[in-house]
Amino acid sequence: MYKTKYFNIRELCHPDIISSIGEHNSWLRLDEFCLMDLDIIRKRWGSPIYINIDQFDSRGLRPPNDPDGAFYSIHKSGKAFDLVPKNGKTEELYQFLVRLIISGDLHSINTLEHKSYTVHRGWVHIACMNTEKRPLIIKP
Ligand SMILES: [Zn+2]
Repeated sequence: MYKTKYFNIRELCHPDIISSIGEHNSWLRLDEFCLMDLDIIRKRWGSPIYINIDQFDSRGLRPPNDPDGAFYSIHKSGKAFDLVPKNGKTEELYQFLVRLIISGDLHSINTLEHKSYTVHRGWVHIACMNTEKRPLIIKP
């Protein structure tokens, strides 16, 4: 089991899931290669990145009935995360992630939601999807 160095389970997983199945089983439901990539991203970025924090509890793994986002969101598979840079440089984080995906230094994160959907709202959506494209830019 891979556990992230930079993020605890509450930052990665909706509280309803943790309270229902416990922390151990919550870790089991996250994609290990995405978790490795989150640590690479955080280390290379060099300053704090928020995922779940305070009232924002759906930026990582979401329950099946979560009202946030799309019904078939890949967030419900443990393969998508919404990243918020503490320093507020969301556009820079987006461009940093584009370059990092192109570099081939990530294991499985290969997808970004087009910046016009999220960056002005303060976050960057990243995911692992079944594609050869690096990056795949999705428009929901
Ligand atoms: Zn997202």
